[in-house]
Amino acid sequence: MCGIVAYVGPKDAAPILLEGLQRLEYRGYDSAGLAVLNKGIKTRKVKGRVADLASAVPARFKGGIGIGHTRWATHGVPSDVNAHPHLDSSERIAVVHNGIIENADELRAKLTADGAEFASETDTEVLAHLIARTVKDTDTLADAVRTALKSVVGTYGIAVLDAERPGEVVVARNGSPIVLGIGEKEMFAASDVAALVRYTRQVVHLEDGELAVLDSDGFHTFTMDARETAKEPLTVDWDAGHYDTGGYEHYLLKEISEQPETVARTLRGRLDDRFHIAHLGGLNLTPHETRAFRRVKIIGCGSAYYSGQIGAQLIEELARIPADAEPASEFRYRNPVVEHDTLYVAISQSGETYDTLAAVQELKRKGGRVLGIVNTVGSAIARECDGGVYLHAGPEVSVASTKAFTSTAVAFGLLALHFGRVHDLSPADGRRICEGLRRLPGQIAEILEKEQEIAELARKYAGHPSMMFVGRVRGYPVAREGAQKLKEISYVHAEAYPASELKHGPLALIGPDMPTVAIVPDDELLDKNLTTLGEIRARGGQVLMVGHRVAEPKLVDDCIVVPKNEVELDPILLTIPLQIFAYHAAVALGRDVDKPRNLAKSVTVE
Ligand code: GLU
Repeated sequence: MCGIVAYVGPKDAAPILLEGLQRLEYRGYDSAGLAVLNKGIKTRKVKGRVADLASAVPARFKGGIGIGHTRWATHGVPSDVNAHPHLDSSERIAVVHNGIIENADELRAKLTADGAEFASETDTEVLAHLIARTVKDTDTLADAVRTALKSVVGTYGIAVLDAERPGEVVVARNGSPIVLGIGEKEMFAASDVAALVRYTRQVVHLEDGELAVLDSDGFHTFTMDARETAKEPLTVDWDAGHYDTGGYEHYLLKEISEQPETVARTLRGRLDDRFHIAHLGGLNLTPHETRAFRRVKIIGCGSAYYSGQIGAQLIEELARIPADAEPASEFRYRNPVVEHDTLYVAISQSGETYDTLAAVQELKRKGGRVLGIVNTVGSAIARECDGGVYLHAGPEVSVASTKAFTSTAVAFGLLALHFGRVHDLSPADGRRICEGLRRLPGQIAEILEKEQEIAELARKYAGHPSMMFVGRVRGYPVAREGAQKLKEISYVHAEAYPASELKHGPLALIGPDMPTVAIVPDDELLDKNLTTLGEIRARGGQVLMVGHRVAEPKLVDDCIVVPKNEVELDPILLTIPLQIFAYHAAVALGRDVDKPRNLAKSVTVE
């Protein structure tokens, strides 16, 4: 959460910072600000969006070195004053920060007793005062930052300017991402490559506990005890065009529409027609090691967790290895028992989700073997894991996940096929799954053709204050993700329940004001699901069924029919209409689809 950008070079920094902030706005959007160096530090900060900041920055805002920030408030309300950058009282040091300083109150009390005057309510401001205190007694800005950070408990990605050293920016990372961009006689830094690709595709990811000094000639990276570290630049695959809306009204619609290609990319080169197995080069597991695992535990947050539930079912069904999914945010706090014969799988689109990263680190500390299913190449979770699968879904910008969700579910299809064929899945079943996976992109394209029909239904149901989503076994994670999508972008209350649990409590809620979206695949549970629909209708509830056939009018009000694949893979396809439904419900209700209130993408705070 929150976006940081920094620039050092011969050009004016402000337009570059503003462009970068626009690209990072999905990470936080309650306020924005920037600072440039030009005979002292000049700042502009506003409550609101990056566009508001751009209008507040005068055309002549000169300075070839600067830092910028788009905020997702954790300490203090969104306001002009609480927006970053934050300065010390003498206005020598300016800091932008992503993360949380946990001992900020204690540090603030000490600094205040020492004469510092605080302007904002943020935890971040203590960093500016702390660095300003030390910088007078140190030879370099890097030394001052290092010394200041030694007294800080918490997480941070920071960028720091010193008015007395107008040629450099210092950045540091502990828990929140910082990526350096290498240009020609110029250097960039940002929370995400999205802000860099317009200028360079050569990037370097900082590790936790690393600090970098940037000037127009390049960069040097150090550990917190001042040892220089060697870094190999990576070339980013994506260019600026991948971060545009591409003519669509919203990123979300663009990303939903891209799914035939993104799923094809996740599958590309990974299916073996000779042995009907999946090849996943990055797993770093021999067949012998794979057979030794007795359990699979999947962790992720939000939609990643729901895609993990689909994954757990795929692994149990195809490989017959017990598997389950759990929110990473819960897992990390419950002192988990880590077993040597359990394989752990961590999911994160950004690869920077703080709760998931912390859970992976806890697992590694306890000797667990962890695979990552990650979209962003070179991200923290990808680096931390023992192996894994990259999604290759391309940048996902909209806050609500769509294409990364489906690609994760497809990656689990590959993983389950691989594990299954190493265990007891027959070549015939292996072939059936390979063929099913191959059919997915075309079938997703068929579902996308129903957009107008689904939009119509979204408009019909969007006016209700609350909706129930139900599904049984394979349909349950689909229902959960459908409810999540609807609530996060349309703000319509939506609750997901296993269809079998309805009569154990929530049926009391059903009535004319509470329609139900029912996930009803053609599988061995079809009759049971149809019975549930009858029970809902008998209580006056409306039913929108999503499945493989049109049900009798006495059971449903409306149906969305999707193409049928193999039963194990059907959940992937059943999710797509629910994305389109949520999107059009949000549009009908006039919501800010790509930047829903209170949320941000890439949750890099606890
Ligand atoms: N904790 C800081 C604040 O509330 C930074 C939040 C962020 O990551 O945007 O200002």
